[in-house]
Amino acid sequence: MVRLFTAIQLPETQKEVLLSMMGGLPHARWQGKDQLHLTLRFIGEVDKTLAEEIRLLLFTISFSPFHLCLQGLGLFGSKRKPRMIWVGVEKPEPVISLSQKITNSLRQAGLPPENRKFKAHVSLARIKGNNGLKLPWFLEEHQGFGLDPFKVTEFTLVQSHLSHTGADYKILERYPAKGAQ
Ligand code: ATP
Ligand code: MG
Repeated sequence: MVRLFTAIQLPETQKEVLLSMMGGLPHARWQGKDQLHLTLRFIGEVDKTLAEEIRLLLFTISFSPFHLCLQGLGLFGSKRKPRMIWVGVEKPEPVISLSQKITNSLRQAGLPPENRKFKAHVSLARIKGNNGLKLPWFLEEHQGFGLDPFKVTEFTLVQSHLSHTGADYKILERYPAKGAQ
């Protein structure tokens, strides 16, 4: 079985800025540089045959290049027990649209849509314990960070290997936008 998801990869410069924000939270497990990405659709564990079908199927998706601007911080989990700190997307419509195209296409391989509503985000850290007052401080401190928009010219199919040290991601395929080849 292989664990798959589709994602937008971030330019090095964007990753550098995100990395520079990391720190100052006792119970946070920060994403490494190679782990930073924007998930378009989580696929999960599939067998090798289906994985190959998915790899080919995703080539039928047609989308135009678009600009993406990372902006703002948010939390998954409850207020009392946050699980994840993430960076949001300023105008997420093109990302949502691409995610929907992928979901529609994956139906042809028999994969049902995800139950939860799609939220465009880049995970920064997992939170493993109680950060007390540090978390509001972190959000306050970094809320106004500014990243330049960047052009998205492809999306990727990624394989995830989970281990005790965290997830290790490998790009299996790249799908260029129209005219971006
Ligand atoms: P770990 O699970 O070890 O903490 P991870 O979450 O980074 O690491 P995966 O679980 O393989 O690695 O997830 C790959 C990507 O898909 C991540 O961006 C993750 O946030 C996202 N993801 C995982 N599970 C789901 C899900 N059920 N729905 C939506 N996105 C998911
Ligand atoms: Mg996970």
